[in-house]
Amino acid sequence: MRLQIIQAGEEVLRVPARALTREEILSDKTRELIEHMRETMRHAPGVGLAAPQVGISLQLAVIEDRPEYHKRLTSEQLAERERRPIPFHVIINPRVVSSEGAHLDFFEGCLSVSGYSAMVSRARSVTVEYLDEFGETKRVDAVGWYARILQHEIDHLAGILYVDRMEARTLTTLENMERWWKDVSPSEVQSRLKVRAQR
Ligand code: ZN
Repeated sequence: MRLQIIQAGEEVLRVPARALTREEILSDKTRELIEHMRETMRHAPGVGLAAPQVGISLQLAVIEDRPEYHKRLTSEQLAERERRPIPFHVIINPRVVSSEGAHLDFFEGCLSVSGYSAMVSRARSVTVEYLDEFGETKRVDAVGWYARILQHEIDHLAGILYVDRMEARTLTTLENMERWWKDVSPSEVQSRLKVRAQR
């Protein structure tokens, strides 16, 4: 079953979500929610979906970056973003235990801010602890695009949207993104849109 993805302006996107208990994690209800969220994310399509985006204020998100999504990017763009396929998985009650290295600026979007994209600065690498759908503790050291996805989804669980962190001057409709900015390097985007001058 596909769920409705709610849009910015719904309060549930702006409140911190509640952690799940072990019993809840192992329940049929959660198993079904995960299945429905997987289907909803694939249909969108998106690389991540957090429970608040389907109106449920729980600390649960699904993530999957499929090879077919990479066809629209050049090999240089994939390399620059350190973007590699990520198999489907579920993160529950996650927390970022450390974030290291440089912050990188790239355009990102959100299924709950439909039709737009903006440049967001994110840590290149993060270590995240979470529970999987079996309630087992997991720890992942993520770099590149996967680290970005994790930061974006974990933000959702705290009531934060990318618009809170974006370089506001880089905001673009997806149509204009395709038309003007898709193949422009991040530093050139910032220079042409005079991002630094505003800081
Ligand atoms: Zn999002």
